[in-house]
Amino acid sequence: MERQTLCLATRNEHKVAEMAEVLAPYWTVKSSADYPELEEIEETGSTFLENATLKAQTTAAGVPDYVLADDSGLECDALEGAPGVFSARYGGIPSSTEKNNAKLLEELQRVGATTPQQRAARYRCVLALAKEGQVIQAFDGVCEGTIAMSPKGTGGFGYDPLFIPQGYARTFGQLGTKTKANLSHRALALKAFVAWCKANPPE
Ligand code: IMP
Repeated sequence: MERQTLCLATRNEHKVAEMAEVLAPYWTVKSSADYPELEEIEETGSTFLENATLKAQTTAAGVPDYVLADDSGLECDALEGAPGVFSARYGGIPSSTEKNNAKLLEELQRVGATTPQQRAARYRCVLALAKEGQVIQAFDGVCEGTIAMSPKGTGGFGYDPLFIPQGYARTFGQLGTKTKANLSHRALALKAFVAWCKANPPE
């Protein structure tokens, strides 16, 4: 595959770090932060795919490169899929990880979800690839798990100190970047993206 520039349509430095790690062997990786003229994109979609599409199309209308947008979040069964597309601002605006994580624990407490089964959850990630304002292909990844009773560990970002992936006893906050890079929702969507690029080399 000929080396091209790929702009990650995000200002979330944690997402950029996780994605660049996987993509750097194949692409010259940039992100929205490299294009100060790009405006903030309001996430008005009601699904991860809609928001990833919106971010990919809008960014690809403003930069000459291929663009890859990530929309992702956490879904809890006991909360009927919340926080879902509102994951980044679940605790209110201005948003913060502390407020989001506190609200998640409060809500699970409020509905009486105390066992691991009742606290079943999954991370979802949708990646949308675009060029010249058009989405070319989308990829998704899902990581099943449960929500811990209290935050543990300092690794990762967002809800990671609360998220225990299936088959493990510790949170992504405790498990470290290598484990997360193997099994997270973003890792799985990225694997699908890299495989697709190998089969469909970008021109
Ligand atoms: P987005 O920018 O609208 O896609 O927001 C994604 C939000 O979902 C983040 O701000 C986090 O709250 C949450 N999230 C998505 N992926 C992860 C992850 O890998 N770890 C922890 N939280 C995540």
